[in-house]
Amino acid sequence: MPDRDNYLRAHNTRHQFHPMIHPMISADAPPQIITGSEGCYVTDIDGNRLVDGLGGLWNVNVGHNRAEVKQAIVEQMDRISYYSSFAGTATPPSIELSAKICEMAAEEEITKVMFSANGSDAVETALKLARQYWQLEGKPTRTKFLSLKQGYHGVHFGGLSVNGAPYYRNAYEPLLGGCFQVDSPWTYRNPYSEDPEELADAVITQIDRLIQAQGPETVAAFIAEPVQGAGGVIVPPESFWPKLREVLDRYEVLLIADEVVTGFGRSGALFGARGWGVKPDMMCFAKGISSGYVPLGATALNKRVADAWYRGFSPEGIIMHGYTSTGHPVGCAAALACLDIVEREDLPGNAAKMGKRLLDGLTPLAESCSIIGEVRGKGLMVGLDFVSDKKSRTPMDPGKGIVERIASFAREEGAIVRPAGSVIILSPPLVIEEPEIDIIVEALTRACARYD
Ligand code: PLP
Repeated sequence: MPDRDNYLRAHNTRHQFHPMIHPMISADAPPQIITGSEGCYVTDIDGNRLVDGLGGLWNVNVGHNRAEVKQAIVEQMDRISYYSSFAGTATPPSIELSAKICEMAAEEEITKVMFSANGSDAVETALKLARQYWQLEGKPTRTKFLSLKQGYHGVHFGGLSVNGAPYYRNAYEPLLGGCFQVDSPWTYRNPYSEDPEELADAVITQIDRLIQAQGPETVAAFIAEPVQGAGGVIVPPESFWPKLREVLDRYEVLLIADEVVTGFGRSGALFGARGWGVKPDMMCFAKGISSGYVPLGATALNKRVADAWYRGFSPEGIIMHGYTSTGHPVGCAAALACLDIVEREDLPGNAAKMGKRLLDGLTPLAESCSIIGEVRGKGLMVGLDFVSDKKSRTPMDPGKGIVERIASFAREEGAIVRPAGSVIILSPPLVIEEPEIDIIVEALTRACARYD
């Protein structure tokens, strides 16, 4: 349909504000129009077939266009396309999905789930329920939130307030008071130590001191991603999460794992926190829960937290929070079909295996490419860190457009990859196999050679 394609090209940025980009820049280099998808591939408006190195936006974990997910969606649409899970009603898929998540996260003692429409909602829900939990516990002064620099927790005011990078926050201040960030346990760039364990200890000490300085009786929760994603794919030292759990337990501070990216397999374990051997108090899910087929978010509570609502009826226990889309039947039906695939096809196992192949394939670039300082990752989360100087590890200035240029070379070579600041991020579908991993590796290797 050439007429429609021309219309789409002409109107690409005419009426649409795109996230995370200046509207004037997007008019100069308009967003690529994706028109089709299948498995690990997408097709753009010019007919190019590309490996989806991003898995949509870290979310199409089961791959594109899966018949069983589409069938579940259509069958649910035929039964009931919408009814709310507000106060007095529920639909079957929301009941089944809440039970399924509790079953999958039984090891974490998750007993309750509250649904929403995306990751930002899931984080907002967690922050609000954490505050309400402390009110129900008779400790209403516990209102503050701690988090990590480089952390990303979505775009709502609460999530933005715990976000660890000022460039996301600056345009929207003032944000929530009482939110504090500590250094990220980032082995490649930190002022403490090259040794991962010394680094973990240094950050834990910082957290300990911060809690003491604020007063433990004022701190509600610590929120963190098990592997920091949007901040540049930062994999913490092995001992960091267990030590984090310990220090928070010492002061009875809740641990919220933001598993929006890592949940349901991406980091090579069913949950990112489980990969570190840690049981959080609350977990935020979105993205991979429904693989992007229908937007869905979920906030899961362990027994310790959930039980606070069951000590007897009180007006303080009424959950004055929720969305029209909470428990959306079509989203929940899609998620049930996706989680079935996650289990049946062992996607966490495949993420671990294919992630290793991806990392091994790209690691030589840190030696051979003059502007790549480090290649790092866990499971199917991989980042290439671009530097202007390898010795000082100075991040490449995103304003120079070099990382974008390499990403667009990679696209010309057959793979979509994501430039994010000075890092190229890879997060392909968890169903990916060797040939597509190799296409991504070759596309990026050729793209870097073209630059060098
Ligand atoms: N939390 C994390 C860790 C994320 O990576 C994201 C999005 O990338 C969010 C929350 C927000 O999710 P959404 O964009 O669905 O609102």
